[in-house]
Amino acid sequence: MFADVIVDITNSEVDRIFEYSFIDDGVRLGSRVNVPFGNKNIQGIVINIKEKSDFSSDKIKPIFSVLEEVNALTPEMISLMNYMCREYYITRAQALRLFLPSEMRKGKIKEQFIKFLSLSEDFLMDKALETLRKTAKKQKDLLLFLEENGKSRLAELNENFGQSAVKAVLEKGFCKISTEKTSRSPYKELSALQKNVILTDRQANAVKSIEQTEKTITLLYGVTGSGKTEVYLKLIDDAIKSGKTAIMTVPEIALTPQMLKQLRARFGDYAAILHSGLSAGERFDEWWRLRNGEAKIAIGARSAIFAPLENLGVIIIDEEHDGSYTSEMSPRYSTISVAKFRARYNNAKLVLGSATPSVESFMFAEKGVYNLAELPERINKKPLPEVEIADMRAEVRRGNNTPFSSVLKEELGKCLEKNNQAIIFLNQRGYSKTVICTECGHVQKCSACDVSLTYHMEENALLCHYCGAKYKMIEACTECGSPFIRYGGYGTERVVMELKKLYPSARILRMDRDTAQTKEGHFKILKSFADREADILVGTQMIAKGHDFPFVTLVGILDADMSLHFSDYRSGERTFQLITQVAGRCGRANEAGKVVLQTYSPENAVLRQAVRYDYEGFYKHEISVRKATAFPPFTDIVRILIKSENDEIALSATKNVYEKLNALYINEKDKFRFFGCMKAPLKKLQNQFRYQVLMRILSGEKQLLDKIFNCLNESKTKNAYLSLEINPNNLN
Ligand code: ADP
Ligand code: ZN
Ligand code: ZN
Repeated sequence: MFADVIVDITNSEVDRIFEYSFIDDGVRLGSRVNVPFGNKNIQGIVINIKEKSDFSSDKIKPIFSVLEEVNALTPEMISLMNYMCREYYITRAQALRLFLPSEMRKGKIKEQFIKFLSLSEDFLMDKALETLRKTAKKQKDLLLFLEENGKSRLAELNENFGQSAVKAVLEKGFCKISTEKTSRSPYKELSALQKNVILTDRQANAVKSIEQTEKTITLLYGVTGSGKTEVYLKLIDDAIKSGKTAIMTVPEIALTPQMLKQLRARFGDYAAILHSGLSAGERFDEWWRLRNGEAKIAIGARSAIFAPLENLGVIIIDEEHDGSYTSEMSPRYSTISVAKFRARYNNAKLVLGSATPSVESFMFAEKGVYNLAELPERINKKPLPEVEIADMRAEVRRGNNTPFSSVLKEELGKCLEKNNQAIIFLNQRGYSKTVICTECGHVQKCSACDVSLTYHMEENALLCHYCGAKYKMIEACTECGSPFIRYGGYGTERVVMELKKLYPSARILRMDRDTAQTKEGHFKILKSFADREADILVGTQMIAKGHDFPFVTLVGILDADMSLHFSDYRSGERTFQLITQVAGRCGRANEAGKVVLQTYSPENAVLRQAVRYDYEGFYKHEISVRKATAFPPFTDIVRILIKSENDEIALSATKNVYEKLNALYINEKDKFRFFGCMKAPLKKLQNQFRYQVLMRILSGEKQLLDKIFNCLNESKTKNAYLSLEINPNNLN
């Protein structure tokens, strides 16, 4: 037999696939193997098995050995790899890197072993006690302890009885050491009692609809607080009971502990967590628990969609509209497309859940491509919080130059007085968005990017939010030397300071990328707020999603328009989703909630619809605009991005690829709705000049996409980097 083996999945940008022979039946599709390579011995993954070789047999070397008894990758993952290569124009190695924990990719497997001490097989207590001197009290105690408790952790015994006692009983042959593999399990402290929830009729109907439809995909459209989570849990329960497995993804790593807690309460160790915030060791162990069948439910952010589970019964994508489901990093992929592939492969159900579905998903549900299940009311018919618009133009006219409208201040006062909790949302971390010279108007900019710098007070530094560069805070304008500096715009740090001035006794927490860098960081802040150790939580979009804090009765949205002014065709959709999500954080328990939405464009149609929670009204308007203007989901946006450190090289590479694409465009004009070449909106990023060829083509034109990709491949040059993006999250 022969195997195609891909070697070096970590480093190379081209697939290195070689053929090897084998007779050992331990070699399977997806096995990790040791193969001879030159005069070395390296690791590879079997991606194809065949009876006949393309080469003469004396040229083919045999596989040395198989690394694990179980094939690390299932045949499904090999198929998924091939699918992703076709769909996203990535290499097989890039796909495989997504599937395997990093430690396996590097070929270094670190399992954690723990040493135990136990009594020897031929141990007799009476005899032993006789031979021990009277002074050896510790050794006696240790032996008695082991007799009573059996095998115990060596480290603990060393601590409790002393290393010399342990050493002595070992030397005398009374005891022996054994080593065992253990699993590092993340969030050990997380557990909860299982709530005994009886599904409402609406929830039960949703479950029935999802399980009984002939359609693979269901859109679960349910307002915030409508109890979607219980529907998910029931679906997972049913899958497990019929011997199947499940994947559930949430949009933020910060949301995984909360979900894991509920899954553990219900399914115990069957639940495993996978996300990029875990330590490499934890991820490795959780991954293997899923692979070897110990765990049957994978929960995590988008990367959990690659969980090594077989026999999937249900895949759940919670908050399916969320932008984080499209990977922005290379390799780019869409979590929902991968989920669709896996659902079809396993004949499983795919559930897309949201209170504000993406325009695309809702269109598919409307057309009947997806099954539609609805939860139109909150649990116990609790009303959705009332949203009040605060016109910030009027506030400015009145001379209010704080970031809070008078109505928000009033509501905050009331909320704190009642000992309730409030959430203040704004999508800007740091102290001030910009630093401006009051003399000459100069704005401090990043030297590597064409963007202004954000002042961070805690670090007393200027940060570039695009490339991460950090600069010393200036003492005077770098242009004119004036010491008079103005801070432009509010960030979370500054909002916290302003709140402290207004409400000196309020306890305030801040959650953004800076305070919640580690998984413990996230977790601690959220837990502390949930435990009511703080009254106000100030945060960025990290706090917008999913969290269920029963004592929050007020939400303030400080800059509702911010995302409205992005040049992106989805800015309306994003704004609607964000407002609904943030508003959904309050009034979830007994007391009604209130939302104050601050804006400089109070008459804006999207804001008006969001205030009324009129998703369907929003959708109708939005979809007709998309159709009229030929934007997704009616077309696919294809962007070729050209980058180089040298502006001239970037420009000539752009011209080159543009000419090739233009020939294609002229040939197939009927399939294009837009074709143009220009500077990218962010002209310079990380010292690279950026240009783009932007296209909108009829959706589903795979052949045309292939041709575009070929043009790009033919245009590859040294010193310029070309990439293809299909419906990217942002068009910066
Ligand atoms: P969603 O995900 O739709 O925003 P959740 O799943 O967080 O809503 O549910 C909102 C609240 O309702 C939660 O506190 C949950 O425990 C509670 N809940 C859900 N289903 C039921 C039920 N059948 N009976 C009682 N309480 C429920
Ligand atoms: Zn100046
Ligand atoms: Zn920068």
